[in-house]
Amino acid sequence: MRPLKNMSEVAVIGGGLAGLSAARHAARLGRLVTLFESSPLYGGLVATVDEVDGLLVPGKFSGQDLAIHLLQDARKAAVQVVETGVAKIELGKRITLIDQENKTYYPEAMIIASGASLRKLGVAREEEFIGRGVSRCATCDGPFFRGQDVLVVGGGDAAAQEALVLAKTSRRVIMVCRSPLKAKRDYIDKLAARENVSFIWDSEVSAILGHDGVSGVRLRNVKDGTSSEIECTGLFPFIGATPNTGFVPASLRTATGHIKTSPGFATSDPRVFAVGAVRTEYGGNVVEAMAEGVGAAEAVARLLLH
Ligand SMILES: Cc1cc2nc3c(=O)[nH]c(=O)nc-3n(C[C@H](O)[C@H](O)[C@H](O)COP(=O)(O)OP(=O)(O)OC[C@H]3O[C@@H](n4cnc5c(N)ncnc54)[C@H](O)[C@@H]3O)c2cc1C
Repeated sequence: MRPLKNMSEVAVIGGGLAGLSAARHAARLGRLVTLFESSPLYGGLVATVDEVDGLLVPGKFSGQDLAIHLLQDARKAAVQVVETGVAKIELGKRITLIDQENKTYYPEAMIIASGASLRKLGVAREEEFIGRGVSRCATCDGPFFRGQDVLVVGGGDAAAQEALVLAKTSRRVIMVCRSPLKAKRDYIDKLAARENVSFIWDSEVSAILGHDGVSGVRLRNVKDGTSSEIECTGLFPFIGATPNTGFVPASLRTATGHIKTSPGFATSDPRVFAVGAVRTEYGGNVVEAMAEGVGAAEAVARLLLH
């Protein structure tokens, strides 16, 4: 039977690897699925990562390889793709979903996979310098800093991975860390093996310097409060991420903005599931994100049988 206009059994919000996996799997289980994605680029946080690490299969895959494969497969399984974001969800007697073009949908169940956005440094002129020295993509923008000195801010996996990409083309890569590196051992060993990578510890960026483009930064030592300046032309901040949940009802969110789930990815509303970087207990890697998407699709399919 043809669905009524704007009706779908399952709405999946987010075309990152968790959402794409969820939509594809739910459709393969025979459900009528609508996927919403707010960005023109599918793949979310790994959309611009050249070589995704930690996959369970041999070979080199970019975030785009994975996203495009999942998207094509989802489309083959008849997932309806809506290329706009979700602006609001209301959880009444029925679920009401309003997209950013003000269209309303009434899905029977929902998988929220809207992930997270990289945190900003929160210093003056940061926005102004995006594309003029400030970047969050080493693969895309690294070549612009060939032979130059760049700063990577942060000490987690993403910062380490991006620093290693930059180290292939930049003269010096300086990692600015507030605390000891939290990146996995493998990344730490690789960073230590690169002669052009160095570290500034216990520090954070307090100002970006420059006129038309970045010429350096001012650092603040978080232990003794002293300031120093360092020259660089590129600045790559990877200081964590905040969940994309502005459109999610407050009843599903925690104080940090994440969505609280129980085992099986259910939220406090039995019709709503959450997977990947948007949920509280998420572990942080794409294999998990994809597996969670599949797990939630199974749970939704079971729910809709009753
Ligand atoms: C630089 C970097 C490198 C990384 N490299 C690796 C790696 O090599 N290996 C690894 O295992 N992990 C890596 N990670 C971690 C990995 O990216 C995440 O764990 C994973 O991508 C989370 O997937 P997700 O689908 O849950 O969320 P996301 O990737 O954040 O995707 C969420 C999607 O939802 C969309 N969205 C947001 N709001 C809305 C809305 N209102 N309506 C519709 N759509 C919306 C977003 O546009 C996005 O496409 C890396 C992270 C970073 C930052």
